[in-house]
Amino acid sequence: GVELLLSAPVTGIGVRRGRAFSVRCPGVVIDARFVVNAAGIWADDIERMVGRDDFEITPRRGEYYLFDKRVGHLVSRPLFPVPAELSKGIVVTPTVDGNLIAGPNALLVGDKGDLSTTAVGLAEVLEGARRLVPGLPIRESITNFAGLRAVAAPIGDFIIGPSPGVPNFINAAGIQSPGLTAAPAIAEAVRDILADAGLALAEKPDFNSVRKRPTRFSELGPEEQSALIESDPLWGHIICRCETVPEAEIIEALHRPVSCTTLDGVKFRTRAGAGRCQGGFCGPRVVAIIHRELGISPEKVTKKGGASFILSGRTKDPLLERADECVDEREEVGGRAHCRV
Ligand SMILES: Cc1cc2nc3c(=O)[nH]c(=O)nc-3n(C[C@H](O)[C@H](O)[C@H](O)COP(=O)(O)OP(=O)(O)OC[C@H]3O[C@@H](n4cnc5c(N)ncnc54)[C@H](O)[C@@H]3O)c2cc1C
Repeated sequence: GVELLLSAPVTGIGVRRGRAFSVRCPGVVIDARFVVNAAGIWADDIERMVGRDDFEITPRRGEYYLFDKRVGHLVSRPLFPVPAELSKGIVVTPTVDGNLIAGPNALLVGDKGDLSTTAVGLAEVLEGARRLVPGLPIRESITNFAGLRAVAAPIGDFIIGPSPGVPNFINAAGIQSPGLTAAPAIAEAVRDILADAGLALAEKPDFNSVRKRPTRFSELGPEEQSALIESDPLWGHIICRCETVPEAEIIEALHRPVSCTTLDGVKFRTRAGAGRCQGGFCGPRVVAIIHRELGISPEKVTKKGGASFILSGRTKDPLLERADECVDEREEVGGRAHCRV
């Protein structure tokens, strides 16, 4: 019952007599009886589209270290310090996949695109992490990254409810930490708000609330793995050696009803590229599989959408051009080549 529009930024919302009635994306206008604004750090910009300016989102950046599974055993449960004024403090915690993660720090930044990691910020994270796990070995860090919490001023808290003056425009905004933990409860609250506002909600008789977990080859025993390889040799063709992800698993991830088309999309679904080498080995192979399965040209495959292209062209082309020049030059000097390629 859901149609998902990907890579379709909302650029405008039609409002008539105090009610939102349409949502505009490039090339499409969607009629709407209700609009839910769950746009994260961009939620204030979306609210302005209905002529309201009730809150302003300032991103608060948090940086992280991710450590190799080799040191996953150092911590068996999340370690929290005493919370700081602005955040829960720098935490060291095991991940569900067996890595260790340390962070985040907390820094208000002006730019909603600022996902940079900094030497100063990472030093702060490491210092905080080592207060909890003395001697945490930095050489086992496999990547760093940052995220932006959506801090809504002036309230500084979650904003869940109809926008004042536009009753069918529902905000779920300013969902900073711990928004992930709160997400199921926020969804139920928004459902109830929509029902109170007059949206008829009826559960489908055939609704299946159980989602079958996709097969993770690396988690299976030898017999199950052998049976899969017997059924299709691509289960035995390991693309990501760090995380033991076979080609068949990547193909399955690409062809789910909601496809993923980027390197990060494949990584989040299968963990190909999430290991020690961070995709250094399997990245080009995943690009080739995306190209083959989805028909996206390798130059157009991105890390995470937008302009995050992996390839900028064929590396051999400049050499071939130079080779052509050499042929021309050789002809000019009477058949003796005087340049080397
Ligand atoms: C450093 C850090 C630490 C955190 N720690 C915790 C924690 O310990 N526990 C916890 O529970 N939570 C934590 N969180 C919070 C949690 O990650 C967020 O609360 C949660 O991701 C917010 O979800 P959201 O759906 O509101 O926003 P998002 O996940 O940001 O989703 C917003 C979506 O809106 C889309 N969008 C924006 N503008 C437009 C547009 N114009 N058109 C179409 N789409 C648009 C975006 O592309 C995005 O997909 C942390 C967050 C950070 C950054």
